[in-house]
Amino acid sequence: MARFRMYPTSEQEQRMLLHCAHARYVWNLAVEQHAHWRLGRRPTPGFVEQCRQLTEARRENEWLGAGNADVQQQALRDFAKAKSARFTSGFGEPTWRKKFKHEGFRVIGTDRVPEYHADGTPKLNAKTGEQVMGRAVVVDQVNRRWARVKVPGCGWVRFRLSARGKGAVPPDAKTFRITLKNGQWHAAFAVIPDSVDAPGTGGVIGIDRGVTITAALSDGRKLNCPQLTVRERAQVRKHQRRAARAPKDSSLKTAAYAKAAKLKAREANRRKDWCEKTSTMLARTCDVIRFEKLNIKTMTRSAKGTLEEPGRRVAQKRGLNRAILAQGWGLLRQRTGHKAPGRVEDVPAPYTSLRCSACGWIDKNSRKSQAEFVCSSCGFTCNADTNASINVAAGQGGIPRPRRTAGAGGTTPPTRSRSVREPQPVWAGISFLEGEDVKVDPWRPPSRASSVPSSPRRTPI
Ligand SMILES: [Zn+2]
Repeated sequence: MARFRMYPTSEQEQRMLLHCAHARYVWNLAVEQHAHWRLGRRPTPGFVEQCRQLTEARRENEWLGAGNADVQQQALRDFAKAKSARFTSGFGEPTWRKKFKHEGFRVIGTDRVPEYHADGTPKLNAKTGEQVMGRAVVVDQVNRRWARVKVPGCGWVRFRLSARGKGAVPPDAKTFRITLKNGQWHAAFAVIPDSVDAPGTGGVIGIDRGVTITAALSDGRKLNCPQLTVRERAQVRKHQRRAARAPKDSSLKTAAYAKAAKLKAREANRRKDWCEKTSTMLARTCDVIRFEKLNIKTMTRSAKGTLEEPGRRVAQKRGLNRAILAQGWGLLRQRTGHKAPGRVEDVPAPYTSLRCSACGWIDKNSRKSQAEFVCSSCGFTCNADTNASINVAAGQGGIPRPRRTAGAGGTTPPTRSRSVREPQPVWAGISFLEGEDVKVDPWRPPSRASSVPSSPRRTPI
């Protein structure tokens, strides 16, 4: 995905806002239509039938008819795609789009270009034998820094070429999506980035992701994802406070919330930028990149509980979740996978942070604190995150979990029939179990043993 900031003129902005409204209206109609389906009713209309209905609706509704048919039809196509990918995309069923929140529309290229097969031969129509013409976005590069793109009803809209070198403007994009968020317009071209060539040195690197250090590399480097500065965070709080105290439905309230949202958007931009740069660096310098396998979705689950059984320490867990999500772990893994296809591996995470990378001994007492690792068996001393990343680099796939009876590799003697866990700080702990003194490390995700209340008689695996 290549995303660029757009700078429309005020007239263009008005037109584009109308496109957003039309696209949202059509999308929501489709959501409503599909929400009506019940067992025993006839199937809900698909894309082709919906397009036919859209033509009818455009004839009857003057507001809709005045809009651009392509923009409205693309909203239906987006819906059809979202609907068919609802089990695999992770987003679930397509839901309502809200004004100011989900502003955007898709533009289909108006340029017709001949299509070719992968081997370079022209694509021919099977029946008529004519050349197949595909769609292409009309993009014009103005100079080194600026380019412009045709948007229906708006003419040329200029955008800033922020990515340098090749691939700045993808020439083969068939469509692109325009979005408005926090007062900023962006154009995202649907294109998969070129994979980065492996250096061919045979270098393997392991990456341990944490909250204090975003990514600890097995060669000792510690990379941190930039976040808001202390001053910026104070400003966010200030704007949120002003918004909360402003009278209801006042312009003051809207303005204060907008200012806070703008700062948060800045943080997200910084995070994305860091993930892009870091993943490119990793793909360029290492042949094999190993991440520990994290299920971020379950790790950042809320501690809220249900109405009958409310959870405890909900606010603290929320803070931890926010800290985890601010690290961009998932994005870093995803983008590295895009740029180095076939060279990224996921290593099972258990015990990577407790195992001594020198002798393989697993003992929770080796982990002296968040940062310090001193092996209780061989005395190997290392930064705890670096130690974990070395374990990740080694790949833990074949190593079995520690057993109660000491075998090769060693084990922690069983204490209170708990499985091996990392040291838990007392001062920032989150207790998950009633009456038990189980703490969650604020720098590290809670392991399954702590978040799922288990019977005290459970034997460790
Ligand atoms: Zn050791």
